[in-house]
Amino acid sequence: MAEQRLKYFGWGREGEGMTAEEVTAALDRYQRLFDVTGFDDVVPPGLLEIKLREPRIVAPPALAPYCSSEAYDRVAHTYGKSFSDYARGLAGKYGSAPDIVAYPRNEAEVTSIVDWAGSAQAALIPFGAGSSVVGGIEPKIDGTSCRAAISLDLRYLDRVVEIDPTSRAARIEAGVFGPALEAQLRPHSLTLRHFPQSFEYSTLGGWIATRSGGHFASLYTHIDDFVESLRVVTPRGVVETRRLPGSGAGPSPDRLFIGSEGILGIITQAWVRLQDRPRFRAGGAIRFADFFTAARAVRAVAQAGLYPSNCRILDPQEAQNTGAGDGSSAILVMAFESGDHPLDAWIGRALECCADHGGEPEHPNKADAHREGAAEQWRHAFIRMPYAREHLVKRAIIADTFETAITWERFEAFHDTVKSATESAIREATGRSGQVTCRFTHIYPDGPAPYFTFHALGRHGELLPQWRMIKNAASEALITAGGTITHHHAVGRDHRPWYDKQRPELFASALRAAKRAVDPQGLLNPGVLVDP
Ligand SMILES: Cc1cc2nc3c(=O)[nH]c(=O)nc-3n(C[C@H](O)[C@H](O)[C@H](O)COP(=O)(O)OP(=O)(O)OC[C@H]3O[C@@H](n4cnc5c(N)ncnc54)[C@H](O)[C@@H]3O)c2cc1C
Repeated sequence: MAEQRLKYFGWGREGEGMTAEEVTAALDRYQRLFDVTGFDDVVPPGLLEIKLREPRIVAPPALAPYCSSEAYDRVAHTYGKSFSDYARGLAGKYGSAPDIVAYPRNEAEVTSIVDWAGSAQAALIPFGAGSSVVGGIEPKIDGTSCRAAISLDLRYLDRVVEIDPTSRAARIEAGVFGPALEAQLRPHSLTLRHFPQSFEYSTLGGWIATRSGGHFASLYTHIDDFVESLRVVTPRGVVETRRLPGSGAGPSPDRLFIGSEGILGIITQAWVRLQDRPRFRAGGAIRFADFFTAARAVRAVAQAGLYPSNCRILDPQEAQNTGAGDGSSAILVMAFESGDHPLDAWIGRALECCADHGGEPEHPNKADAHREGAAEQWRHAFIRMPYAREHLVKRAIIADTFETAITWERFEAFHDTVKSATESAIREATGRSGQVTCRFTHIYPDGPAPYFTFHALGRHGELLPQWRMIKNAASEALITAGGTITHHHAVGRDHRPWYDKQRPELFASALRAAKRAVDPQGLLNPGVLVDP
C-alpha cells in the first residue's frame, strides 16, 4: 500500500494522530488546568482554501521532472512544527511559501538545482523532514537580494550506501528518515542509536545541520559525536572531509558544517559511527521528594563517570501531566544499555547515588524495569506528545517547549528565574495563570540540559503575539541568567536575537566570512544564524 503523504498541518502522515480518547483525556486535563468548561475550536483551512502567490520562477525543462509548484508541495514546505508555525497555518497565512519545491534523487541533481538557483538568484532552503521548531526551513526572503525561493527536499537521498563493519561506520545519504536508516542497519546487527523525539519524521542531514540531541542522556548526547566525515554541496563546489576516528589537524572542517543549519551548503552524505545493538539493559524509575533533590542525585551520577543512556528527571507537575506520577514527587527515569556487558554494577552504583539523596526505586528488587510502571508510562507519553500540538492550537491552547544548558553551580537559581519569568509572561500575555514544568533531557559532569514546557490559554486572533510575548520573556531570561538559547533545537530564525547576544561578535564575523567563501550570492537559507 502506498504511504500516505506527510501532513501539511500537523505531525506525521495523513490519517495518523491522536485517538478520540486521547484528545478527550488531554482536553479534560487542560479544562482542569485552566478552570474552564470548554474551548473555542477553530478548524485549519483545507488545501483548496489556502491562497498562494503565483510562483515567481519556473523550473527549466531539464529540472522540471523533479521540481513542483503544486499547492500541496508549496504549503507543506512553508512551515516547520513550532507553535508559531501551527498558529500561522491555522490562520491560513502562507505568504512565505516557496515558489518551487525540488526533490533531487541524487547528488548530481542537487548540484543542478544549486547551479540553477545561482543563475535565477533564488534562495535555497535545504529541507530534511521539516521538523524544525525554530523557523529553520521557512523561506523568508524579504529584505534579501533573492527574488524567489526554492525548497530543496532531500527525502529521496535515503540510502545506506556502504558499511564498514571493521571500524563500525556507515556512509549514509542525508535525506534518510530515522526509521528507514535504522531498518537498513538492522540486518548488519548495527545501529546509530540517535533517537531525537522527532526520530520518525526527521532526517540524518537535518540532525547534522541542527546538532540534534538524541536519547543518550550522557556521553553521546549530540549527533556531532557520531559524525566521522561529511560530503557537502556548496554553490562554490563540493567539500568532502577525511574519514578519521579523531584528528588534531587545526579547526575541524566537519565542525564547521555540523550545526550550520543550511547556510553553508547541502549535506548530501555522511559517514557516521555505529554501535552494536544493545543486548544488556538496566534501569527503571526512582522517586524523589522534589526536583532539586533529584537534580543533586543526578549530578552525583554524572560526576561518577557512569554515563547512563537515559537520565530524565521529571518535575512533579511534568510527571503528573504525563501520567508517570501523581504530582507529589519528582521522577527520575534512568537506564543503562550495552551491546557488550552486563550493567548490574553500573545501575547498582547509580542507585546508591540516588539513595544518598533519598531516591526510592519504584521496583527495588528488579535491575531492569525500564519498560515498566512510571518509566514505561513516561516513554509512552513521550512518543505520543508530538501529535498533541495540532489539537491544542485549534483550541487556542498555547503549548510550547524550550531547552537550554547551565552549569551545576548556577542551576537552581537559574531554574527559578526562568520559570518565574515565563509564568509572569503567561499571566501578562493571556490574563490568567498557565503552567511551566521542567525536566532534564541530557546531563554532563558540569551541568544539566533543562527542558521547559509551558501551557497557556490564549485567544484566537491573538495567538501569535501572545506566544511571542511568552517566548521572548523566556528567551531573555535564559540568556540574562547565563544559559544557552538552545541546547539542541537549533537557532533558525526564531532564536536569532538571543543567539546574536550569546555568540561573540568576532565569531559572527568569521562565520559571515566563511559563508561568503562558499555562498557568495547569499542564497543558502537567508536569515538563519548570520546576516550577510
Ligand atoms: C515533536 C518534535 C520533537 C523534537 N525532538 C527533538 C529532539 O529530541 N532533539 C532534537 O535535537 N531536536 C528535536 N526536534 C527538532 C527537530 O526535529 C530537529 O532540529 C531535527 O534535527 C530536524 O531534522 P529535519 O530533518 O526535520 O530537518 P529540517 O527541519 O528539515 O531542517 C532543519 C534545519 O536543517 C537544515 N537542513 C536540513 N537538512 C539539511 C541538509 N541535508 N543539509 C544542510 N542543511 C540541512 C534546514 O535548512 C534547517 O535549517 C523536535 C521537533 C519536533 C517537532
